[in-house]
Amino acid sequence: MSDEIDKQAFDTLAVRAGIQRTAECEHAEAIFVTSSFVSESAADAAARFSGEKPGNLYSRFTNPTVRVFEERLAALEGGQRCVATSSGMAAIMATCVALLKSGDHVVCSRSVFGNTVLLLNNYLAKFGVETTYVPLTDYDAWSRAIRPNTKLLFLETPSNPLMEIADVRRLADLAHAHKALLVVDNAFCTPALMQPLKLGADIVVHSATKYIDGQGRCIGGAIVGDTERVGKDVYGFLRTGGPSMSPFNAWVFLKGLETLKWRMQAHSVNALEIARWLEKQPRIERVYYPGLTSHPQHDMAKRQQSGFGGVLSFDVKGGKDVAWKLIDSMRLISITANLGDTKSTVTHPATTTHSRLSVEQRTAAGIGDGLVRISVGLEDVEDLKRDIARGL
Ligand SMILES: *Cc1c(COP(=O)(O)O)cnc(C)c1O
Repeated sequence: MSDEIDKQAFDTLAVRAGIQRTAECEHAEAIFVTSSFVSESAADAAARFSGEKPGNLYSRFTNPTVRVFEERLAALEGGQRCVATSSGMAAIMATCVALLKSGDHVVCSRSVFGNTVLLLNNYLAKFGVETTYVPLTDYDAWSRAIRPNTKLLFLETPSNPLMEIADVRRLADLAHAHKALLVVDNAFCTPALMQPLKLGADIVVHSATKYIDGQGRCIGGAIVGDTERVGKDVYGFLRTGGPSMSPFNAWVFLKGLETLKWRMQAHSVNALEIARWLEKQPRIERVYYPGLTSHPQHDMAKRQQSGFGGVLSFDVKGGKDVAWKLIDSMRLISITANLGDTKSTVTHPATTTHSRLSVEQRTAAGIGDGLVRISVGLEDVEDLKRDIARGL
């Protein structure tokens, strides 16, 4: 990172970082839709292939539009390097494949994205990587789970769908005391609300599909960290393994970064208003939102984050039938498992995102049949309340 970027504030970096104007003098960032790049001569091609001379060769390796997105996100997260991927899952896969080998052990929060669990259990396990799952906020359990061959601690905070908050600094210290790395999936907060690298995490992974796009259009992901592990190891796997980001998607995401902070603030304002309102509804048993003083890690969230985010969940009295009825009576809020959109979305975790878990696993994780999750969008908050109230 250049000295100049080091000095610039988040708002400036969000709008300007990474821009490389071409000879056409365009003001907005261009989309380079090209699979390969030409060399001036055979000698030039040889020098670029050998790495002796910098320059683009092929868009699986580097692409100018993707590079703007990577430099901008790296700047916002405070990392040395970012590499973009075709999806959030590709970012998690690339991190694991690049940094782990047969015989290594991972300690993972049990409250992570379902496909992350499947990736670890069904695929990395095939190559001899073992995973132990622990409750996100049980620090003794994290500590007990660590073995001499533990290489990675992995978590999401806030967790989905119960919005539990982990102490990132504490888990980073624990990881480092055992020469392991802490990887944080920052899809829910984004760097606008939390910068895990500044709290001691080694690597941040993203599903850009969520708030970085913010308007439900593209699938993409990213890994942010240092020049060695991310810049060499993870990037090395990606350019060979193949799940690179398309230039068009990179352009959508880099434009998303320009408004990210303001959108995250607006999502947080709307979500807090709805969470407080839900707490007062007699048909609702409990609301899970870190911005509420009733949330068990409210203070932790206040210390660690600059906003509480756009996702909340709540238990309705009466279980699944009542939860489904509530969802089915919504006319504005969309029934879809995606989140981080300007449009509010609603899900019933027990029968969708978390339906693969057994009843015991779901109960242990606190995901009841009456639980409803809402990703609060940017519609008018009174319209949203009216939509929820119809089914209550
Ligand atoms: C959606 C999501 C992912 C996976 O990202 P994709 O872009 O769908 O591959 C990973 N982690 C979290 C927290 C997510 O919400």
